Amino acid sequence: MMRGRGFWHFNKNGIYSVKSAYHVLSEDHLISFGQLGGLNWKKLWLVPVPPKVKNLVRRALHNIIPTVANLQTRKVYIGGGCLKCSAFEDADHGFLTCPCAYDCWESFGFGEVDQFASLSSFVAFILALSDKQPIARSFMILWGLWVKRNQLVWQGKSCTGQDVVDMALSCLADWEASQSCYQQYVSPVSRMSIVDHWFPPPMSFYKCNIDAGIFELEKKFSYAAVVRDSSGNFQATFSGFQDGVVLPKLAEA
Ligand SMILES: [Zn+2]
Repeated sequence: MMRGRGFWHFNKNGIYSVKSAYHVLSEDHLISFGQLGGLNWKKLWLVPVPPKVKNLVRRALHNIIPTVANLQTRKVYIGGGCLKCSAFEDADHGFLTCPCAYDCWESFGFGEVDQFASLSSFVAFILALSDKQPIARSFMILWGLWVKRNQLVWQGKSCTGQDVVDMALSCLADWEASQSCYQQYVSPVSRMSIVDHWFPPPMSFYKCNIDAGIFELEKKFSYAAVVRDSSGNFQATFSGFQDGVVLPKLAEA
């Protein structure tokens, strides 16, 4: 990696990138699937958090995140251990047993996380909860711990456990609000009931069906049309997206 005099051997240009680090770790088959078989992966992918959060949890469980332990396995030296407490830093440490992680979980209301033998057993415990909200929030905390850990590594920024909780839950609230807005405003001008009762045009004629969408917040509108022949075969289509606030009928026109 190129921090001062360093050189990252796994990129042609010698410059470190997170992408190359993941590639190196994956390539070296550091993934250990054995203990992950009992996890409810289907439920994991349904946790209502941003995809990047689930992806981080997945990578952490598969031990393909660039912790100090994993990088040292590849003979990449980025310091002696955890930057917060100097202990050996693997995923279990970073997310659970580091005093800073423990402090964070305690601030969140999950005391005694160190009773879990590993990150995988902790995630299995979380996924077994019946309520979606604490599952989603816990995933956000895991993601927040990794984000704040990276800020310390690369920018020298330190923070408290409460800072991690505040940041993670704030991001979750923003994401939930964006999902709510999406559901509210991306509503079609007219439902395609026509699809359920579509009749073909007479022989030698074509039928053109039109629909439009209004995006009030963004002050934009979209439109689309499909042309079919008397046999119902698709013939042509067009669509567009424009700035402006218009009435639904005008958008369809
Ligand atoms: Zn630590």
